Amino acid sequence: MTKHAPRSHEPVHSRRTFVRNMALGAALVGGGAARALAAELAEATKGGERKLGVALMGLGLYSRGQLGPGLRLTKTCRLAGVITGSREKGEAWSREYGFPEKNIWNYDRIHEIAGNPDIDIIYVVTPNGLHAEHTIRSAGAGKHVICEKPMANSVSDCDAMIAACAKANVMLSIGYRLAFDPHHIELDRAAREKDFGALTRLSGEDSWRFTTRAWRIEKALSGGGPLMDVGIYVIQAACRAAMAQPVAITARELPKTRPELFNEVEEAIEWTMEFPGGVACRGSSSYSRNNNFFLAEGDKGWIRIEPAFGYGGLEVTTSRGPLSIPPVPQQSLQMDDFASCILTGRQTPVPGSMGRDHMAIIEAIYRSAADGGRRVLVQRA
Ligand code: NAD
Repeated sequence: MTKHAPRSHEPVHSRRTFVRNMALGAALVGGGAARALAAELAEATKGGERKLGVALMGLGLYSRGQLGPGLRLTKTCRLAGVITGSREKGEAWSREYGFPEKNIWNYDRIHEIAGNPDIDIIYVVTPNGLHAEHTIRSAGAGKHVICEKPMANSVSDCDAMIAACAKANVMLSIGYRLAFDPHHIELDRAAREKDFGALTRLSGEDSWRFTTRAWRIEKALSGGGPLMDVGIYVIQAACRAAMAQPVAITARELPKTRPELFNEVEEAIEWTMEFPGGVACRGSSSYSRNNNFFLAEGDKGWIRIEPAFGYGGLEVTTSRGPLSIPPVPQQSLQMDDFASCILTGRQTPVPGSMGRDHMAIIEAIYRSAADGGRRVLVQRA
């Protein structure tokens, strides 16, 4: 397995590292950035070094529909194995993607991946409540880890994951594909360079009508309702645009219209994040309507992405008119970037510390909603 340059601890996600990470992400993916990433990848893989091997853990809808196909388009990594509860499913993937059947593991055999040089990265794509255990066990097998969002069900689990990866000297990143999407990178750039003046207000929603996926409404596996599932994208976009972690939260859960379904988690929730300097972001997320957008307003205009959080079809409009930005394969860019981080020792722009920061915000949102909308301070790292 390729080890990255040794480092003592994954750095805490301070404002300075945040700005640097965002600039790096922008430099890598936005504008002439695809060229920068291509050059870095060419350098990292020169001499014909093999592609890094990825093992997908959890072969549900996201792996099936996005990550497997996305790995066919990557330049620096490839699908080399799977971890699944179903041997049959694993064999079907092995035939489809051309990796050997010896690279199919059950969840109780994760430790055996340690001795397998085909696998460099384990990508955890299981229900949220299993992310901590699966990440810690993957790190224990000496493999770099990409963990899907939300990073875990609690800040303390995030801390344990970061510590386990640091102890094993493996890199940890979160599956934040939108950090590699040029629509979001353009919004971040416009906010950073004050294209529309100083930010005055942020707002966003990510909602979808939930009907079928059972674990998402079981609290132990999901950690919560739409906020954990998709509202987190509004949080992520707001922190990127504000280039900061919010200091305080107020929130309220909306009345349930389908209480029989949502008896363990919220059906819909609204919150306000107060950022340093006075900018606020109003966010909302629901399992009972379809809507998603993100809007950044400044004192000289605005920029909006709508739809904002899907795998494709994103559109940017500004107070000066629409922008034409071609779509990209988000997941392929995300995975190639992580592989390139491993090969070059560069820090990922979407580290575990970022997932932990977002979990601290989510905990504050739930605390405020449970306490009648009281203003709650966000726990610092
Ligand atoms: P899914 O239900 O379709 O798949 C979950 C997989 O985990 C299944 O293969 C299931 O067999 C496996 N699993 C292992 N142990 C399990 C258990 N005890 N209970 C239930 N399932 C178990 O879910 P999904 O939509 O693929 O989501 C998986 C993860 O990916 C979630 O954390 C989700 O938030 C994340 N996700 C991210 C994105 C994104 O855009 N980044 C999109 C979808 C899902």
